Amino acid sequence: MKMLVATTLTQGTRGSDYCFCVAGEPVWIQEPCDKDRRDPERGCGCSRGFAGAASHRATTTAQVADVPLTRDELVLAMRMSLIDGGWPANWAEDIVEENLVIASFFPTGTVIERSFDDFYPRAA
Ligand SMILES: [Zn+2]
Repeated sequence: MKMLVATTLTQGTRGSDYCFCVAGEPVWIQEPCDKDRRDPERGCGCSRGFAGAASHRATTTAQVADVPLTRDELVLAMRMSLIDGGWPANWAEDIVEENLVIASFFPTGTVIERSFDDFYPRAA
């Protein structure tokens, strides 16, 4: 199944890059904080970030990967991650849906970056 996972590929291409995730873990899209909404250049950088489901850390680079997981398995993994992170477990379906929809727009292998609700290919 094609899905978005954390990657270190292309890290450093932008001076503002960061990657505290574990490469290969599923990622999800969190709402940016108020600081980033007001001033994305001087905020914490979360409007550019993808959240790692396993590490609970973040990265500015995600990759479209073909992972041997079913949708149900990914929902279950995401539910566990949300519970672990103190988020509502019932977000899992929507989070997985968003991950898969974004991944569906790009070929497998594409590295993507984020700016708020927009996602751009960086490299294939
Ligand atoms: Zn922030």
